[in-house]
Amino acid sequence: MIVAGVAWLGCYAALLNYSRDMPELARFVGEVLYLVPIIACTGLAVFAARRTRQRVRIAWRMLVVSNALWLLGESIWAVYSYVHPEGPPVPSLADAAYLASYAVALPAIVVGLGLGVVGRGQGLLDALLVAAGAGAIGWQMIIAPLVPEDWTAAALITFLYPVFSVSMVSILVAVLLSGTQHVPRSMIVVGAAFGLAGITDGAYAYLTAVRSYESWSWVNLGWQTEAVLLCVAAVTAAGRREGDEPGAADPDITFLPAVVAVLAVGALAVADLILVGRLSEVTLAVIMLLLLGLLVRQVVATRDRTRLTQRLRTAATTDPLTGLHNRRFFEEVLDIEADRAMQRGDPLSLVLIDLDHFKQINDTYGHSVGDAVLIEVAQRLRRSFRAGDLLCRYGGEEFLCLLPGTGGREALDLAERVRQGLCATQVGVLGTDEQLTLTASLGVATAEPGTGRPVIDQLVDDADQAVYRAKALGRDRVVGSGRYAAPAFDTALPLPPALVWLADRVDRAVGEREHSAAVSRWALRTAARMGLDDAVQRRTAAAARVHDIGRVAAVAEGDGLHRGEDDRGHPEEGARLLTELADLPELAPLVRAHHEWYDGTGFPRGCAGTDIPVEARIITVCDAWSRLRSAALAVGEPALAGSCSQILAGRGTRFDPAVVDVFLSLVDDGAVDEPAALPPEHPVISGRRIP
Ligand code: GH3
Ligand code: MG
Ligand code: MG
Repeated sequence: MIVAGVAWLGCYAALLNYSRDMPELARFVGEVLYLVPIIACTGLAVFAARRTRQRVRIAWRMLVVSNALWLLGESIWAVYSYVHPEGPPVPSLADAAYLASYAVALPAIVVGLGLGVVGRGQGLLDALLVAAGAGAIGWQMIIAPLVPEDWTAAALITFLYPVFSVSMVSILVAVLLSGTQHVPRSMIVVGAAFGLAGITDGAYAYLTAVRSYESWSWVNLGWQTEAVLLCVAAVTAAGRREGDEPGAADPDITFLPAVVAVLAVGALAVADLILVGRLSEVTLAVIMLLLLGLLVRQVVATRDRTRLTQRLRTAATTDPLTGLHNRRFFEEVLDIEADRAMQRGDPLSLVLIDLDHFKQINDTYGHSVGDAVLIEVAQRLRRSFRAGDLLCRYGGEEFLCLLPGTGGREALDLAERVRQGLCATQVGVLGTDEQLTLTASLGVATAEPGTGRPVIDQLVDDADQAVYRAKALGRDRVVGSGRYAAPAFDTALPLPPALVWLADRVDRAVGEREHSAAVSRWALRTAARMGLDDAVQRRTAAAARVHDIGRVAAVAEGDGLHRGEDDRGHPEEGARLLTELADLPELAPLVRAHHEWYDGTGFPRGCAGTDIPVEARIITVCDAWSRLRSAALAVGEPALAGSCSQILAGRGTRFDPAVVDVFLSLVDDGAVDEPAALPPEHPVISGRRIP
């Protein structure tokens, strides 16, 4: 196509040159042969409009109309030149068709080159500024000299050509520079064609202004080239089946509007000074407008940049899944809050929340259900914490909340409310009718006022340790640290998780129901009702939780299940483990004495009465109750009366009478629950076993 086009242009130029002195031939070349490429480009545009897609197709449909109007104009012109030897009237029907052709071509080019500029504040503004700058130069250089003195129709028409060509070139410059969409190759050629047409029209306007245009004029060659370029563009578009391509990157034309505006202002001023000797009002107005435009552009650009920075900052400190703050944000804020807490003398607390068995949710239902659960958890946590608390997603299924100005006791209470809020209602599994119960283990750490600047890493570590203990104690609970490491809720004990684990292993080896956990629960309640002080209560519960760990030796040797009192070495062995392995010597005498009898006939030492520590006397009753209840439940006789009378039978001999009385009153009040059947070793969600 390109070869044919160049060949045509060569022949046409030669013919033009050859016919200069032969008016008839010149008219034929200038008016009839001239039509050939225009007919071709109109036909090819139809072809291109059929073969292209999306916005390129819209552009080509408009170009079909534009080309057809051009052809119509040229045909009328040709007829005129034969019918009116003195030349066509001005204005003529041909002018109407030419101008209409332009009016359609302008939007076609905007659509084809990329409408992407429209709608984006700064891109659009840049394009307008560049167009205005280029237009101002064009106005000063081409249009201003042609502004008619009196506005006759003829003068108006002649004047409209340069206006169109200047608009065309300005728009081309602007759209090409700031369009954000992919520019189809055919549209670049169309742009070049119309750019050339703009320049040719300018030349034509100038020639008619000085009245030296002839049919054979070289100006014709400009329009012929335009038609050939349109043919090439149409063939390109059809051949490549052009359509929307992925958008090009935003062109960076930060400096261009300023450069063009400065050039335009300079050109306007210089031209004015040369032509009129001073700056005209119009020039001044245009200069003001351009400067104003630049100013607005700067403001928009700055605003855009500020917003972008803000957005980037938010993105960098927000967890995309849950919309909560992320760990990075948290670490930044933690430092600030630590300083503030120290200056004001306020306490500062942390709650670390780790979902229980979350991995199973992923493994059972898939990662996307896991994600949905995390989103739901985030919402529940948001509702439970207070406005000033800083909640963030700390890791996969771990959330961390900073509680400024909140002391340890208050933080534990809040954490407990959060825990309850989390598991209050079940969560539906997307796409099934299954329901999940969510539980979490929560650790609380507090920096008390007056202890210096809170050490952040220490706080997080403490909370983490507390979570670890909560997990070891059976999950679904709140555990404090430091001064509040004591059981916040009655099963949470300051015991090393390994010991608790050991106690549970022993219980599992010895029976089908929980044992030490239940004994610990009841012992704590008994001690509390007996009015013993906090420390004794806590010690009682702790010793009860590990009172049987000494059985581990027998269990490990595998000599069967030790259900009775036969393993007489275990109190001493338990005491030894507590002292030597766990560094808990204060619990050792309590564990050692839990098989002593009140009347002095027990083992290992045969102590009696108040020589036996009160904690041990309490554990002895609860221990016996646990064995009685497990046996009763095992044979399907759950009535309490039998167990109660057996305890009463030992009152004053095996058991301390005071402890028996308090314990049985608790039983009467329903404050002594049954030992639960041991959970399957496989962890459980929602009370159901996960397969
Ligand atoms: P534990 O009760 O001991 O805390 O057990 P767990 O399964 O909750 O804890 P673990 O640390 O073993 O597993 C955490 C899991 O959380 C592992 C990982 O696949 C999952 N997880 C982490 N981030 C995401 C996430 O963004 N989406 C989903 N769906 N799962 C996640
Ligand atoms: Mg975890
Ligand atoms: Mg977890």
